[in-house]
Amino acid sequence: MIVMKFGGTSVQNADKINNALNIAEKQLPMRGVVLVSSAMGKTTDRIIDAFTSAESGDLEKALAFMEDIKDLHFETARQFLTDANLQEATVNLDRLFGQFASLLKGVVLLRDCTPRTKDAFLSFGERLSTLLISLRAKERGINVQLLDSRKFMITDDNFGSAAIDFKTTNGKIESAIKKGREKLYVAQGFISANKNGVTTTLGRGGSDYSASIIGAALDAQDIQIWTDVDGIMSSDPRSVNGVKTIPSVTYREAGELAYFGAKVVHPATIQPAVGKEIPVRVLNSGNPEGKGTTISSDAPVNGLKAIANKKGITLINIESTRMLNAYGFLNRIFSVFDKYGTSVDLVTTSEVSVSLTIEDISRLREIKEELKPIGHVHVEENKSIVCLVGQELWKDGGFLSRVFKTCEGVPLRMISLGSSDINLSLVVPFEKTDELVQKLHDQFLS
Ligand code: ASP
Ligand code: MG
Repeated sequence: MIVMKFGGTSVQNADKINNALNIAEKQLPMRGVVLVSSAMGKTTDRIIDAFTSAESGDLEKALAFMEDIKDLHFETARQFLTDANLQEATVNLDRLFGQFASLLKGVVLLRDCTPRTKDAFLSFGERLSTLLISLRAKERGINVQLLDSRKFMITDDNFGSAAIDFKTTNGKIESAIKKGREKLYVAQGFISANKNGVTTTLGRGGSDYSASIIGAALDAQDIQIWTDVDGIMSSDPRSVNGVKTIPSVTYREAGELAYFGAKVVHPATIQPAVGKEIPVRVLNSGNPEGKGTTISSDAPVNGLKAIANKKGITLINIESTRMLNAYGFLNRIFSVFDKYGTSVDLVTTSEVSVSLTIEDISRLREIKEELKPIGHVHVEENKSIVCLVGQELWKDGGFLSRVFKTCEGVPLRMISLGSSDINLSLVVPFEKTDELVQKLHDQFLS
């Protein structure tokens, strides 16, 4: 069995849905498929626009947003369904949009939209997309079964970002989905229900997580994340020339890259797959023959895989005003960041000073004030982190010296050789970032 998750752009219109079904249909007779889908295109954003307008009392605007969503789905249905299937789509779409409009009116009357109500709204996106996908599959003669993920993805009551009850969920998935190659299962990503059957959601972008949970519960052979890029790239294609798809990364390398904006998969979302050592493949639905990137525990460990960067970083240096060996120094520093909910990304320390980086500077003023009694504080804004990712890089003794040679002329403000042996991070001036990344990429990855 495999789980294939299609993101919003991969199902954004009739053609894309057909293409997704081509991909699924090809694999079905070989391995059996559960197709997990996001909402079509930007539907989730439009739903949020609709209930936000309703909450502010503007029914007309709310209904206009709903009309946009409605048009997209009716238009799509008319493009690829006929006769009884079109009839079935129309009946169901009318029913769903009838409910949606009633909910909007309720929110306008109350001028209140609770997280619970928002989840009810949000669930429409995936329910609508999967309705059309399953009917199109039927129209094409595929033996298909549409599932309601709220029947088996069981969560707590934390609306908007609910936590899965794995024990209940795993059991329910196993009973809802019979392993086999006869039938294409279609299920909604992102949506779930609490133990009383009230709709919840797993948080924005939650469909990957759904796919991973379903795949893990079924001991799937792999979990495929179909998106609109060719997997994880060796660097940011928008600012670096010559980037390539990385064929394989370890789960840990993928996690490191996600922080740097390789948005294709978030490490938390593939956690259930990691636990079962199920490979997660990131593939491009616009280029289905491409190999994409495979994320697995046994990806070959072969040196540098990617060079990422993050701009808009602030460097803070704290020098102890007290004597050497004063214990509690680090602890006191970190508790300040803790207090202001500001996460620290890189840290290097010496006996008397600590350098660290933060991204979020909204509480910087307060943080600086409170650090003053602990030590002399120096802040440098407009920095970037350049991060070289690859497991066990450091076994190659010549590597570091080649990196530093390439950095010639760029003032390095901080260097952190990850304790996890996955990354070397360099803090450099903002204006030197792109140039340095390009040079490093040319040197090591092209
Ligand atoms: N449709 C949801 C969102 O846009 C979930 C997802 O796409 O993964 O956040
Ligand atoms: Mg989406």
